[in-house]
Amino acid sequence: MIRKIVDPIVKTGGVDQPFFEREGVTLVEVHSNHLADHWFGTWSAQYERTPPPGSFLQIVPPGHWFCECHQHSVPHFELPGPIHSGNRAARRRRGPPEFGMLATLDPRSTLT
Ligand SMILES: [Zn+2]
Repeated sequence: MIRKIVDPIVKTGGVDQPFFEREGVTLVEVHSNHLADHWFGTWSAQYERTPPPGSFLQIVPPGHWFCECHQHSVPHFELPGPIHSGNRAARRRRGPPEFGMLATLDPRSTLT
């Protein structure tokens, strides 16, 4: 998913809009409030600075990709407030935070 989204950006400087329309996926800019917190700690530790504002997008899948109990648990990184990604039991079932759902626009860096 990340490759399908990022490759056209790297190659053409723009997104593959038909892909987004077909899949029902949207991209939202990560609010700068979140760039200094633990969600981006791996990136910050690697590059020894906080990611610059506007450098991360969240890939937001359509609700129907999720089971019923998780349809409304996608974190809203575009909003300035604290991130609530479901309750603790839901997070435990789901495993680690969804770093794979965050994409950087800087092709020289990755979060993985
Ligand atoms: Zn579920």
